[in-house]
Amino acid sequence: MSRAGDVRLPIIVIGVSEQRYSCHGCGNCCRDFTVQLRPDDLARLERQGWKEKLGEEVTVEFRGQTFLRQRDDGACIFWMADGKCRIHAEHGFEEKPIACQLFPFSIVPGERDAAVGVNFACGSVLESKGKSLSTHRDELVRMTARVPETVAAPVPIMLAEGLVATADEIDALVRGCERWMQRRDVPLAIRLDGLAWLSQSLSAATLTGVRGKRFAELVDTLVAAMPDELAHLPIEPATGRQIALLRQAVFGRTEDPKIPSLAKRGRLRTTLSQLSRSRAFRRGSGKVPRIGDGFAEGIAFADVAKVRPLMESPDLAAIDELLVRYHRASLHGRRLWGAGYYGWSVRDGLAAHVLNVACVGWLAQVRAAGAGRTAPSIDDVRVALGRVDRMAGRAPWLGAVTERLRLRYLALDDGLRRVVAAVVRA
Ligand code: SF4
Repeated sequence: MSRAGDVRLPIIVIGVSEQRYSCHGCGNCCRDFTVQLRPDDLARLERQGWKEKLGEEVTVEFRGQTFLRQRDDGACIFWMADGKCRIHAEHGFEEKPIACQLFPFSIVPGERDAAVGVNFACGSVLESKGKSLSTHRDELVRMTARVPETVAAPVPIMLAEGLVATADEIDALVRGCERWMQRRDVPLAIRLDGLAWLSQSLSAATLTGVRGKRFAELVDTLVAAMPDELAHLPIEPATGRQIALLRQAVFGRTEDPKIPSLAKRGRLRTTLSQLSRSRAFRRGSGKVPRIGDGFAEGIAFADVAKVRPLMESPDLAAIDELLVRYHRASLHGRRLWGAGYYGWSVRDGLAAHVLNVACVGWLAQVRAAGAGRTAPSIDDVRVALGRVDRMAGRAPWLGAVTERLRLRYLALDDGLRRVVAAVVRA
């Protein structure tokens, strides 16, 4: 198979029938995302003559890259008062920058094909509103022509550090995780605990001698051992240090400085403010720093701690459906490792995914506390998941060494299981 991009990998639209999507024009992505531009996008904007028409620049250079300009509130300069995109309105959908056309889809190349995933930052994805994903296939094939790196696997996917994964090993893990999370006869808390346990077990295993069929057998054995095995592995309450790490993980997943404010404040002031927010999350006392759209401000950490876990939500069935769909769509869309997640190994990517779910639980509690609810509602979980998934795979600091160290620490002493249990278990 060519790696040069001249021979296309077939595009596989994820086989998660319960996941649907059509754009409903809410404009949230136009108000919330920073759009990096490619040379091809810049040429189109130039041809469209915006600088002459608007009398101002529509792009901005920042740290060596070019972005669509944003207003002071972070909204795209082309986002109009009626909620529509001005480029779309005047030149058509296909003339928009490719990142805007693609969202909320992602296309991640693998060895045999390129998989289509969806980002849960989009409200229509969250609520599974619209057409089946396969109906978008032709559009996606057209778009890949403008994103050549989506049609050739850039680097091999690693099973763990130094071990290149085979497609069959990845399939075995995807099948195992999916089979487990779809066990509706097992309570959601146990399924999420099992996912954390599976991740911890893979982190602890020496995989060098467990390759190919033996790896598939290992996954099958671990999955088959749950939930009986879990019943014999009681979870201790999370330690203060583990919960502090969870809050810091939340900080990393909600931090999203906008270019206008970065440019205005300068690098030093921005860094100092980030450090102060990071410290506040670690300490976990006083007020929760501002999280962003959809979250009330000025909520006390102490009030968040009083909110009941997800299992006590009156909307548990809807939360279960959403988290399983998110899990399946992320697995099939290859958004958990490799090119879909900072080039991370399958083992590290699975751990990060479990931590993401714990962060969603904690953020849902923050939102519930802000609304005076005793337990998170489905809306709280949706907003929290949208917040966490919007950063997945696109925030460089989440792919950095500090995040890996956090996961290494949480892989010890049942850390991942304990932080998941802290936000999920009744
Ligand atoms: S967030 Fe989703 S539904 Fe809203 S405008 Fe963007 S793509 Fe459309």
